[in-house]
Amino acid sequence: MAILNIVHYPNDILSNPTKPVEKVDQVIKRLVQDMFETMYNERGLGLAANQVGEALSIFVMDLSKDKSTPLCFINPEVVESKGEVKLEEGCLSFPGVYAKVKRPEFVKMRALDINGEVFEHEGVDYDGRCMLHELDHLKGITFFDRLSPLKRKMLEEKYFKRNRERL
Ligand SMILES: [Zn+2]
Repeated sequence: MAILNIVHYPNDILSNPTKPVEKVDQVIKRLVQDMFETMYNERGLGLAANQVGEALSIFVMDLSKDKSTPLCFINPEVVESKGEVKLEEGCLSFPGVYAKVKRPEFVKMRALDINGEVFEHEGVDYDGRCMLHELDHLKGITFFDRLSPLKRKMLEEKYFKRNRERL
């Protein structure tokens, strides 16, 4: 397993839609393992493949504190969503900045798991939020794109100031 480099904003790969995975083969399985290791290493709750430079429709997440609920979504799609709630979120591709984003309160998604089997997973509040944030990445949408123009401008200034040396 390997820890992969995280792509930071702004980078074209974060603003372009990813491609569906055609076959869950050994290459994909290895990428998923590396994505989990990278996410845990960065203490993130979720990570999309394009955040590590692979433009494929895959994300991983684990909301537990002890790595006990790893979930891998390959070619995910929303089956159902309900309600609306505004909660704070951050992103490994945007170190040091957080913002409240409005999203559905409940979501049910369908995807392939690491064995290529179809499964469904539903979540409310932070669980659903994490799934929707990661699905956005796969569509080339970041949480900055969900902010009002004014809020985005303020946060971008903060972000570029904070990450002067990194970018
Ligand atoms: Zn993110």
